[in-house]
Amino acid sequence: MNLVLMGPPGAGKGTQAEYIARKYWIPHISTGDMFRTAIRFGTELGLQAKTLMDAGHLVPDEVAIGIVRERLAERDCAKGFLLDGYPRTCPQAEALDQILASWNKSLDAVINIEVPHEILLLRLTGRRTCSQCGANYHIQFNPPKKTDLCDICGGAVVQRSDDREETVAERLAVYARQTQPLTEYYARRGLLKNVDGAKSLDEVFNDIVTSLK
Ligand code: ADP
Ligand code: AMP
Repeated sequence: MNLVLMGPPGAGKGTQAEYIARKYWIPHISTGDMFRTAIRFGTELGLQAKTLMDAGHLVPDEVAIGIVRERLAERDCAKGFLLDGYPRTCPQAEALDQILASWNKSLDAVINIEVPHEILLLRLTGRRTCSQCGANYHIQFNPPKKTDLCDICGGAVVQRSDDREETVAERLAVYARQTQPLTEYYARRGLLKNVDGAKSLDEVFNDIVTSLK
């Protein structure tokens, strides 16, 4: 299954992607995670992405398209994939279509997680992430068992630098301006599956699975 997971920052894409990837045995490809890994390793890509990410802006299209093209060409994507955080602009969506068409492939569905603005603000400002393994937590909705320590690997659980209040507003504005219009692009092609992301983690996951049947 070739899937895209859409929704504003904080909608729950990363959280649901882990469940979806496990259920359908497909790799979870998060461009945001790829950029964060590049930043951790101090690569050229990381240096290029860091300032933009910290300001809540998008990384240039050609950079995002390039890493997705390379990643989708890897063997584990042969039987399907789940893209999370890509595409974020029209040129990225068109590039994805072209990349897939060149391999005689296409998307099967685009899941769009919808969440009201006030809930997004709560989720983003309360989100915490393991600095070692990237596991996702929330100070209120899904706290780690031991304060500030990851349940999975024991790493330090920290706030993402782009989840500070001043950056969150900019990221939500960028989403509304550049990414939200893509829902129309996919709806016209009959690929869009809207899911209510304000529900509990389990309910959202069940709704996603139902939408894919
Ligand atoms: P995204 O990848 O779309 O930016 P995340 O999956 O990181 O969003 O979720 C943002 C925050 O909201 C995280 O702290 C996560 O634990 C929390 N969260 C995600 N889904 C839900 C939900 N259905 N109910 C409550 N909290 C949630
Ligand atoms: P995310 O983890 O999906 O919230 O992404 C975090 C940040 O990484 C975004 O705010 C952007 O700066 C950058 N980013 C992730 N994916 C993309 C993309 N497809 N295009 C451009 N920038 C991206």
